[in-house]
Amino acid sequence: MFNKRVRIKEVLEGDLLNREITVMGWVRTFRNNQFIALNDGSTNSNLQVVLELGKFDESLLKRITTGAALKITGILVASLGKGQKVELKAQKAEVLGDSDAEKFPLQPKKHSLEFLREIAHLRFRTNTFGAIFRIRHSLAFAIHQFFNQKGFVYLHSPIITASDAEGAGETFHVTSFDLENPTKNEDGSINYKEDFFGKPTNLTVSGQLEAELAALALGDVYTFGPTFRAENSNTARHLAEFWMIEPEMAFSDLEDDMNLAEEFIKYIIKYILENNREDLDFLATRLTEEEKQKPQNERSEMRLIEKLEFVTNNDFERLTYTEAIEILKNSAANKKKKFQYPVDKWGIDLQSEHERYLVEKHFKKPVILINYPKEIKAFYMRQNDDGKTVAAMDILAPGIGEIVGGSQREERLDVLEKRMREMNIPVEEMNWYLDTRRFGTVPHAGFGLGFERLMLFVTGMTNIRDVIPFPRFPKNAEF
Ligand code: ATP
Ligand code: MN
Repeated sequence: MFNKRVRIKEVLEGDLLNREITVMGWVRTFRNNQFIALNDGSTNSNLQVVLELGKFDESLLKRITTGAALKITGILVASLGKGQKVELKAQKAEVLGDSDAEKFPLQPKKHSLEFLREIAHLRFRTNTFGAIFRIRHSLAFAIHQFFNQKGFVYLHSPIITASDAEGAGETFHVTSFDLENPTKNEDGSINYKEDFFGKPTNLTVSGQLEAELAALALGDVYTFGPTFRAENSNTARHLAEFWMIEPEMAFSDLEDDMNLAEEFIKYIIKYILENNREDLDFLATRLTEEEKQKPQNERSEMRLIEKLEFVTNNDFERLTYTEAIEILKNSAANKKKKFQYPVDKWGIDLQSEHERYLVEKHFKKPVILINYPKEIKAFYMRQNDDGKTVAAMDILAPGIGEIVGGSQREERLDVLEKRMREMNIPVEEMNWYLDTRRFGTVPHAGFGLGFERLMLFVTGMTNIRDVIPFPRFPKNAEF
């Protein structure tokens, strides 16, 4: 068997002292023809491998270069050097894959995130991205664990769909037509009847509508899958392809929804604090170093770990949109015209700068805003009795702004149909959706959490392109 190896994580944490073991990994550095820092991706830490002088061929030593893959068998001994408790005294060393040090783009020094984004196929081999993608895995696992423990059913909502859940129209079309030569009607328009699905289709922007259908039978469900938006937002918080978690609960109102979201966020952050401490510590230090470049007033008030602990230990602030507008309108920032978008009247859509002001400057903790004006929210949100607002809730997080968007859904058929007509949503085409309201409708609620926004929050990274393996954004679909 080839792969009779011990992972470096286990070597460093386990009880293998004085045992013969085999490890495999990639060279991070090689010093004095003697000391190899070997990393196999199982942990942020490297294993120090010691090659006794004179014991190994010169020709082999020459091939031990940064990036090369090695198989080492040796005895694990206590280390006298500083920086590690154990080291591997090599008996056998084999190069599995050479790496031309002249050409290997990753040098043993700090690279900029922009540069690493261009070599995203290799950035997994850096400490930063190793930590990020181990945390991404753990978060995904914790999410499934949370819902499983609560008795939710994991629903695979379709990726190709004929509906645009938000009605926002920012979708990617799916077709099997030859785009140079699609089948056309006599009037020159495209004949979708001849297309693969017999009608226009697109990549999903949200699995919510399908999740609602399932929730009104299975009770509590959640989706966790990729979503696609052709929004031309070239921001550090938007991707064209991102992952979303969308729970949907029957027999629930807006308060149940907020409670679930808050419990959920606290649970998964706690999970990461307990299970990914080494990687978090690494990223926390990285962030502190990076912030030293910034002026004092732009630095975070809390260190990363402190911030995460703070979120798990404190209740989120809950207030209405109307209350938030009052706070923003009367804020010094607004009066001194510090906002790019001034807050002058009830009804405006909150910008990221407003959300961050509430979270970072005013309340200094995560905030849940509820009861938004219906004009700025989706058709499916339940209308409140005031005739002006809907039972929506957004959760705003420090450094990011909106991280969760949710609502109690409109379960009353007549009210829903009326709202859909007002908003020009094709009622006939959505008969399948309305059927849930026709047959045994119940109060229900849910939310969507952008997985990469959560990743930004947890890792302290500032650009969403750095928390997904291969980011898709305007003019970029590399790898
Ligand atoms: P924003 O105002 O930030 O564009 P949105 O109102 O379009 O967000 P929703 O439609 O409510 O967002 O989507 C639910 C969640 O998905 C958001 O709370 C956010 O966490 C995430 N999200 C939305 N758009 C993107 C995107 N382009 N890239 C990454 N995550 C996103
Ligand atoms: Mn958006």
